[in-house]
Amino acid sequence: MNPNQVLGENNPFEAMHARFDLAAKKLGLDEGFYHILRTPDRELTVAIPVYMDDGSLQVFTGYRVQHSLARGPAKGGIRYDPNVTLDEVRALAAWMTWKCAVVNVPFGGGKGGVVCDPRKLSMAEMERITRRYIAGIMDIIGPDRDVPAPDMGTDGRVMAWIMDTYAMHVRHASTAIVTGKPIELGGSQGRIEATGRGLQIVTREALQVLKRDPRTCSAAVQGAGNVGQITAHFLAQMGIKVIAISDITGAIVDEKGLDMPAVRAHLAKARTLEGYAAGERITNAQLLELPVDILVPAATENVITSRNAANVKAKLLVEGANGPVTAAADKILDEKGVFVIPDILANAGGVTVSYFEWVQDRMGYFWSEEEVNQRLETMMVKAFNDVVDMARRFECGNRIGAYMLGVDRVAKATKMRGIYA
Ligand code: GLU
Repeated sequence: MNPNQVLGENNPFEAMHARFDLAAKKLGLDEGFYHILRTPDRELTVAIPVYMDDGSLQVFTGYRVQHSLARGPAKGGIRYDPNVTLDEVRALAAWMTWKCAVVNVPFGGGKGGVVCDPRKLSMAEMERITRRYIAGIMDIIGPDRDVPAPDMGTDGRVMAWIMDTYAMHVRHASTAIVTGKPIELGGSQGRIEATGRGLQIVTREALQVLKRDPRTCSAAVQGAGNVGQITAHFLAQMGIKVIAISDITGAIVDEKGLDMPAVRAHLAKARTLEGYAAGERITNAQLLELPVDILVPAATENVITSRNAANVKAKLLVEGANGPVTAAADKILDEKGVFVIPDILANAGGVTVSYFEWVQDRMGYFWSEEEVNQRLETMMVKAFNDVVDMARRFECGNRIGAYMLGVDRVAKATKMRGIYA
């Protein structure tokens, strides 16, 4: 349980709307378009009946929300989590819309979720859930309609089942239906590391703005999944002293700096931080309040709220997760002068390389890892500068600057397309 949750603050869709409203106002967005961009284009809820390994029949619930298709096919991951709600998927879909616009990839925003606990499912059960879920949302996905990807609780293996299920239905191969696939099935070099690499790039850029040398900085990373673990690794590679990392079992801290290769080797074997010999154990909540220069919440939503924002000591907050900070906490962090790199910019490296994967699949021609990383570097630096410029120009924090950049691009596309009647 998250001890910092505050009732009335933890609905991610409302949190998204609160920031969107501020950005829309600053942009002077007219009322009709304000309502269009506030409202998801399409939402689908499906029942997923599945035979479990013990012979019982269970019905899971799945969602796919397409928030906007104005700039291209919907794009966004699929989350498997026991606490997934429709409002959460709505928020995540809208964040994908703004995120794709911030990095300027030609996609709209979508997101999927299945209410299930992947930690309690066998591989065969996961496969059956995935295939039946995809069959249920089949009519609204496709390489030109809506392109799923991994998110919390899903990975390349799940993406392979998605691709296969889709191919079985359309009766032909279709690699561009999903991104985050294994390389052998048309995945892109560098996709697994892309979110962490993007986080590293924006952290480096922010430290330049703040005139700080990475080698004199310390960091704490919440989350040891694909995003947290790889970000911690890349930050350590930059010479930043990563003193803490966590997973759902809690955090480990070592003021001298964690031995990241050893932590990663332990995680690869044990799949949890539990049992890691070095360092001290603290809670996830304590990790967020450590006296570090850089804090990277890379686990889940609503971990920094009005309850603990004032206790954040870091001067640079880099959002690896989607929605880790509530709208009420924004104000507190702003007043403290924390330099925030908001989720829709910070973690956009993932969807950027997803875009490269989709492009490569459609060409049937694949790039080297160097080429992928070089293109990612260019796009992340450009997006970072665009956001910081926007924030300076409109005298607001980076979060609202990022929303303004994204919302403005989507509003322009929506207006140019006109209203079909
Ligand atoms: N789930 C990731 C995100 O939230 C990646 C989405 C994608 O690659 O489409 O950005």
